[in-house]
Amino acid sequence: MNISSLVRPNISRLTPYSSGKAEFSGTAQVYLDTNENPFGDNITNRYPDPIQRKLVEAITRQKSEQFSCSLLPENIALGNGSDEILDAFVRIFCVPGKESIAFCTPTFGMYRVVADMNDVSSLALPLDSSFNLDVPRILDEAKHAKILFLCSPNNPTGNSMSAERIEEILQQFSGIVVLDEAYIDFCPEKSFLPRLSEFPRLAITQTFSKAWGMAGVRLGMCFSSPEITELLFRIKMPYHINVLTAQHALERLQNPSRFQEEQNIILSERSRLEQELPHFSCVLRVFPSDANSLLVQFSHAEEVFHHLLSAGIIVRNFAKVPRLEGCLRISVGSPQENTLLLKTISSFSASQ
Ligand SMILES: *Cc1c(COP(=O)(O)O)cnc(C)c1O
Repeated sequence: MNISSLVRPNISRLTPYSSGKAEFSGTAQVYLDTNENPFGDNITNRYPDPIQRKLVEAITRQKSEQFSCSLLPENIALGNGSDEILDAFVRIFCVPGKESIAFCTPTFGMYRVVADMNDVSSLALPLDSSFNLDVPRILDEAKHAKILFLCSPNNPTGNSMSAERIEEILQQFSGIVVLDEAYIDFCPEKSFLPRLSEFPRLAITQTFSKAWGMAGVRLGMCFSSPEITELLFRIKMPYHINVLTAQHALERLQNPSRFQEEQNIILSERSRLEQELPHFSCVLRVFPSDANSLLVQFSHAEEVFHHLLSAGIIVRNFAKVPRLEGCLRISVGSPQENTLLLKTISSFSASQ
């Protein structure tokens, strides 16, 4: 199915808002076009660039290098966090009250939330026993869904989906596939970014919130065919990426060595936790992870959760969630934080 026939009719017809800043992209001496206050630092008193040309170019370069591929600016749309992009997909493709999306559980909770917010129904299909994609079931049961959200590496399980299975879905599913690669910086060799041009109905979302250490900055990205990029541009709020976000991200992109150093520490700390945690009697299982978190099954998960809490350590409690019974999701912290975590779990084990 081609993309334009999947788009909601009102979005196809939409004439986007045209901002002063979008109509004129050169430099001028005097800006009297957008009712700004002329006083101030000439940065924060001005509206941001609605197309974020410089930032998009910097991301194009960095991502092409990081993932050994050749992206173009027309493959990239930005979002105020990648959550905003997930919502945009539902609004572009799904008619409220009529159409549906699908995703595979257990997974990131926002897919259901963005569907619910838009009065779009969601189909939650179970991942198989190793938290991998159940391709025949997806192709059968999700065949009428407009969008299929896949998350690899998956949150909260931490594992990546098999590339062969993702590929099979990309070849056979007739709607839009949004592949959420929020954690891909921790396993860049598994990204589908180098294969983007093979699949016109594939969109890949990534974020600066996890590996890049900019969760507070709110900047997400979507990589897709120019046709999908254009749709994301069409429905975005004119100035959704603010001046400070763009400035901060540009500075960080100019210094990728810090990114690499932090990455190395996080990955070696993840290995340390993977090795140490199984030594405690209360730990039943540490699930394999390609992300910066570990899903850990405990014999007394609620007690461990509260024991950690009373020591001032907050982890994510999935103990009562179907298929994640007894599990806590633990983010990989700094070396000192992880040492404190291990010490606290050790004191729980000793008290049992
Ligand atoms: C954290 C997370 C996001 C959200 O990222 P933002 O860019 O901070 O909005 C998206 N998907 C998954 C799977 C996540 O874990």
